[in-house]
Amino acid sequence: MKLVINDTFHKELPVDPIQENYVRQVPNACMSYVNPTVCKEPKIIHTSDEMLENLGLQKEDTQSQGFLHVFSGNEIYPGTRPYAMCYGGHQFGSWAGQLGDGRAINLFEVNHNNKQWAVQLKGAGKTPYSRTADGLAVLRSSVREYLCSEAMYHLDVPTTRALSLVLSGDKVLRDVLYNGNPAYENGAIVCRVAPSFIRFGNFQILTARKELDNLKKLADYTITHFYPHLGAVNETAYINFIKEVAERTMQMIINWERVGFVHGVMNTDNMSILGLTIDYGPYGWLEDYNPGWTPNTTDAEQARYAYGKQGYIALWNIYQLANAIVPLIKDTKRLEDVLKKIQDDYHSDRQTMMLSKLGLNEQTENAEAIIEDLEQLLYDSEMDMTLFFRNLSSFDGIASDAYISALEELSYSQTFDTYRKNWTAWFTTYSHSLRKHQVENKMQQMNAVNPKYVLRNYMAQLAIDAANEGDYSVIDELYLLLKEPYSEQPGKQKWFAKRPDWAKNKIGSSQLSCSS
Ligand code: AMP
Ligand code: MG
Repeated sequence: MKLVINDTFHKELPVDPIQENYVRQVPNACMSYVNPTVCKEPKIIHTSDEMLENLGLQKEDTQSQGFLHVFSGNEIYPGTRPYAMCYGGHQFGSWAGQLGDGRAINLFEVNHNNKQWAVQLKGAGKTPYSRTADGLAVLRSSVREYLCSEAMYHLDVPTTRALSLVLSGDKVLRDVLYNGNPAYENGAIVCRVAPSFIRFGNFQILTARKELDNLKKLADYTITHFYPHLGAVNETAYINFIKEVAERTMQMIINWERVGFVHGVMNTDNMSILGLTIDYGPYGWLEDYNPGWTPNTTDAEQARYAYGKQGYIALWNIYQLANAIVPLIKDTKRLEDVLKKIQDDYHSDRQTMMLSKLGLNEQTENAEAIIEDLEQLLYDSEMDMTLFFRNLSSFDGIASDAYISALEELSYSQTFDTYRKNWTAWFTTYSHSLRKHQVENKMQQMNAVNPKYVLRNYMAQLAIDAANEGDYSVIDELYLLLKEPYSEQPGKQKWFAKRPDWAKNKIGSSQLSCSS
């Protein structure tokens, strides 16, 4: 196995001088060197062909002992120095101080085809940032991250990627329901890949500690490597940097809204500085359309990170990032104007996105009302979001009784009849709009933004249940299915269906805890 290593992060930014691996506060540094913990009997479960290629590797490489040892953390690739990043964050709205890579270890950076990739193991053991936890990850959460990050990429949603899923051979103790019933589960390690894993929290911790020299170093590093088009680092570049991070973040959110994704834990330490979806934990997909829904049981009461709040929360998080970078900026009025515009743009961009799901152009009259009424009806009649929008592309413009009756099949409601009249009225208005404002190649356009296949939680759970029995075929089946989420795939119709009844209240198949 041959990789072209091009480490920058640990070579250009301050490193913690302590090299022993024990839990501590790490001032005056952006990272600490730490080696992965050796695992007992690693075994490769799955690899992503595309990510192999992106890193300049071949399928044959995955057969080598070197591949298994490096991506399980059992060997260090020659000439590299693994490290864990230091970051802080706001968790559920409150400043939490230092968090950091508690169970992620960056192996190295690879350059291939003029692209830079940071390569990181998740679940490879304790680091100075592990606080009271074990630094490990279980198979169930690793399968979810592995499958979903690749699926999101193919849905055209900005995301970190995954190279490999490895069974560690070690057992990991978890109390899934946080009810005093811990049990041993299979441990696993995902190798994640992204141009960079820097988060909002990497900046926040430096400002919180008043390490303004380091703050400037990190901002300059990030701009030089990942936002080089912003030019020489100066006040204008810092403002444009925040602007672009904010724009990318809001585009990511609009994409989440488009495909029905709910992240579940939008703390500022889980916000990528590149606007990528990062840290797949208790995420989920809207089935019955409910903007107030969160898959995260830990957040069930407040529902701070519910589907419909993600735009607002992302803006809140962007303000925290801006606050962290403000010490580098004198003219804060300019920054405020930028942030105000981000908010306005979000509302109009979201509307454009919703219109694209409906096959309508941007000139559509009463667009706001059409969208609001639809969202209300989808919610009231507990409509399956994915099925509804995907089927909508074949609507022939006539709001017939038969068409409305067929909608009932896509709903989870026991009282669908109550909304029949409202549906007829909505489809009548929609037909009028289509006549005037339909986009060209409507069906093709709609099918390119309304996915046919998404990774519903129960689907991931089926793959997990099989994997825990040593059967990895469902992982492979879903991985291949989700490579083409917008295509009709004959023979795969069983995955284009409502959530089965058994999954509604089964933990893991609808809602999840943070235990991972
Ligand atoms: P999260 O919000 O789940 O992404 O994680 C919040 C913080 O907890 C981060 O600093 C993680 O590195 C850390 N963390 C989560 N799980 C573990 C674990 N099993 N061992 C060590 N640190 C962890
Ligand atoms: Mg995290």
